[in-house]
Amino acid sequence: PPTKLPRVGTTIFTVMSQMAAEHGAVNLGQGFPDFPVPQRLVDALDAAMREGHNQYAPMTGVPALRQAIAAKVRRCYGAGVDADAEVTVTSGASEAIFNAIQAVVRPGEEVVVLDPAYDCYEPAIDLAGARAVHVSLDPASFAVDWERVRAAITPRTRMLMVNSPHNPSGAMFSAADMQALEALLEGTDIVLLSDEVYEHIVFDGARHESVLRWPRLRERAFVVSSFGKTYHCTGWKVGYCIAPPALSAEFRKVHQYNVFCTFAPAQHAFAAMLREAPEHDQALGAFYQAKRDRFRQQLLGTRLKPLPVAGGYFQLVDYSEVSDLPDLEFVKWLTVEHGVTAIPLSPFYAQPPAGQRLVRLCFAKNEATLDAAIERLRRL
Ligand code: PMP
Ligand code: GLN
Repeated sequence: PPTKLPRVGTTIFTVMSQMAAEHGAVNLGQGFPDFPVPQRLVDALDAAMREGHNQYAPMTGVPALRQAIAAKVRRCYGAGVDADAEVTVTSGASEAIFNAIQAVVRPGEEVVVLDPAYDCYEPAIDLAGARAVHVSLDPASFAVDWERVRAAITPRTRMLMVNSPHNPSGAMFSAADMQALEALLEGTDIVLLSDEVYEHIVFDGARHESVLRWPRLRERAFVVSSFGKTYHCTGWKVGYCIAPPALSAEFRKVHQYNVFCTFAPAQHAFAAMLREAPEHDQALGAFYQAKRDRFRQQLLGTRLKPLPVAGGYFQLVDYSEVSDLPDLEFVKWLTVEHGVTAIPLSPFYAQPPAGQRLVRLCFAKNEATLDAAIERLRRL
């Protein structure tokens, strides 16, 4: 049959998780925690199902959850958002990203994507009949050169996608980045899609520059987040999208015919969690910073060189002292010969930088898992 997505194969996360399982490797590839969900959340999910919240939720999301999200963004970012007109609960951030693109991007238009970029962006752009225009981040610092972004903008540019804290690099936007972004978009009708799934995983006292803090950006933006990252439950697939009323209305046209609504019991559980334990998200940075610091310290005992990590739960390492293999071959070799699975960076690029020797390790893991990986990596 004719294919609409000729360049798409199986995602690198699936490929590497399967390979890790086949070879009994310690899986630091696909990003997911290997420790439990907060007990309070499990109890809340159980209670929601027992209380009978098992039928369709309202299309836009359970009102108590939308209100709790609005309260959270007020608390975290000082932003007033209308829970009814501006918040939509989705089946993960992935669904939100897909909807936002389908809702506003037309055939023949362009979407500017900053590489390396998370893998679900481009297929959604392709399915909209549009074209992704790739601008590379600085290969050493993963900072944005806003002049290069400006140069990529054409009269056909409909959307710009950004992601901070960034997967895979762990880089974060500064206030100066946000000002540059404002200046760049001023006077255009470009829509911003801000992927903020790691919003609460930030280190060293840094402030997450949510687009919701920046009124001139917020008025043209879809801001997307995921409870999977914040509550250690990537398999529950619940996220949300915040956008001004007119953009939310278009977004909901896609959402209502894509999934109609998101898993109802979990929406009640997250509403209870946000209401009763609002401190959880604030504690997440310190929780993951301890893991980051311990893991980085351990990496110093290997020949892998850790790059800086400002946020998120991924650590990039330079393996050029260990091997000359291209990254896809290196991660296979590392899995098969050394029993540790990582994610190569090249699948995150339209055009990977020549000679780049970096792979991504996920540190959202128990100490025992990280210790087992380090013991193996020491032998490299
Ligand atoms: N964006 C980024 C940057 C991610 O890392 C992920 C999760 N891997 C997603 C979006 C998708 O989130 P969800 O699992 O909630 O769909
Ligand atoms: N977001 C996860 C990562 O970057 C992967 C999610 C998936 O497997 N689709 O590792």
